[in-house]
Amino acid sequence: MIKLQKTSLLALGLIILLTFWNCLFLGKTYDLVIKNGFIVDGSGNPWFKSDIGIKNKKIVRIGLIEEKQAKKVIEAQDLIVCPGFIDIHTHCDQGILTVPTVDNYVYQGVTTVIGGNCGGHPFPLKELFKKIKKRGTSVNFGCLVGHNTIRREVMGNKMDDPTEEDLVKMKNLIRQEMEAGALGFSTGLAYMPGTYSKTEELIELASVVSQYGGIYATHLRDQGLHITEAIEEAIAIGEKNNISVQISHIKLADDAVWYQLERITRPVEEARNRGIEVTLDQYPYTATSSGFGSSFPSWAFEGGRDKFMERLENEESYKKIKAHIITRRLTSTKGINKPETIYIASFNEFPEYEGKNLREILISQGEEPTVENTADLIIDIQKKGGASAVFFQMNEEDVESLMSLSYTMHASDGEVQVQGRGVPHPRNYGTFPRVISHYVQERQVVTLEEAVRKMTSLPAQTLRLSGRGMIREGLYADLTVFDRHSFGDQATFSAPHQYSKGLVYVIVNGEVLVEKGNHTGALTGMILCARK
Ligand SMILES: [Zn+2]
Repeated sequence: MIKLQKTSLLALGLIILLTFWNCLFLGKTYDLVIKNGFIVDGSGNPWFKSDIGIKNKKIVRIGLIEEKQAKKVIEAQDLIVCPGFIDIHTHCDQGILTVPTVDNYVYQGVTTVIGGNCGGHPFPLKELFKKIKKRGTSVNFGCLVGHNTIRREVMGNKMDDPTEEDLVKMKNLIRQEMEAGALGFSTGLAYMPGTYSKTEELIELASVVSQYGGIYATHLRDQGLHITEAIEEAIAIGEKNNISVQISHIKLADDAVWYQLERITRPVEEARNRGIEVTLDQYPYTATSSGFGSSFPSWAFEGGRDKFMERLENEESYKKIKAHIITRRLTSTKGINKPETIYIASFNEFPEYEGKNLREILISQGEEPTVENTADLIIDIQKKGGASAVFFQMNEEDVESLMSLSYTMHASDGEVQVQGRGVPHPRNYGTFPRVISHYVQERQVVTLEEAVRKMTSLPAQTLRLSGRGMIREGLYADLTVFDRHSFGDQATFSAPHQYSKGLVYVIVNGEVLVEKGNHTGALTGMILCARK
């Protein structure tokens, strides 16, 4: 009896000592606790109220948590707490090294950006990843292998079909990039030199990524009159290789096809019904943005820049090029493609043209804003090194219809920006907050929970990023906290360099990146590689 009591006392003493030790020396249970937030968890489920406990980069508890268990507490009373936004379609792969704080994305609540889209990525990927790791980055970064990059490495700007040897070389390079950690394979079939490739070549090349569980993401060959055929081509590439298909920046970019949603939904839904995973992404604006290259016939660029300049000197080929620009870029059935709908975003040679439309530029040059003169101006711009531009080509109703499809996700198609440089498309600063303020709050096209799902778990699922995209115990703590009433975009087409309002906190891998609305400069992003 006495012996037993002694043992119990000893055990009790030990417990008290351990608890004391724990509190004093081993620290708190959580690195960070977010209290009382309205949690929109990324699944599409309705919000619920809870605390979130974070430790060692991950969410370790969802439920009631005492403040004293936390090293740091964020009070999120009346605020929305959701997974950090995952932007499946960006061109951040270049700028992430020069601006590692990636401010224009962080201030949208984005915690992961995917580069290597539209067929282009910095080659080789191993080097890029090494540099990013060394420099650090505020957001997580994943990358696709770009077909244009690989084709150019092997075949230059040749218009020919690849030889057997070329195909082997390209496949080896794609394999090398997948081994380095690429998440899939992207094409930009309206761009050089991807525009020269036939479907068979793409089927063959995409076969490599199927061995790695990668996706096929594509900037379609055509986003206007021939969009259905272009989608069918993308589906064939996925179906033949048993890989999922991500159709980039989906749109009806020609007034000849406006209001004809079935040109997109029919092939996509037929494929989905056959069991082929096809998903879409979209930026929430009615204007596109790109260079003028895709306004030219692809043969104009064959062999590189010197050849292109030679062709412009030749009267015959100049005429052909001009005729192509007029039919493909400057005319449409209902007349949307006018010089006043095309704005210069950035132009190294003539920065004074940035923010102006082609009509204004022609008038300032003493020219009539005719279709003929506009085509000459576009050729001249390309001759002087090219410019990027914003094209108003879509209609609002189509944007909303595409947005409400369950398999469409929100993505920016933007890149890392330097404050004040050029007049870029506002999607670079406003995509994610705009969806919430304009399409959830004002227009009620989607619910808040649905919009968040399309910005988080849907892109994570598509990319097989299993550790992110939802608020779940065991997942990485990438979180965005905002005021539902005031969160919104401020960037406009004429004044795009404006951050969102209403963003309160952003957390990346458990570290606070935005604190009370201000970027802390923390570089806690990780490189996200495919799981082999
Ligand atoms: Zn694209």
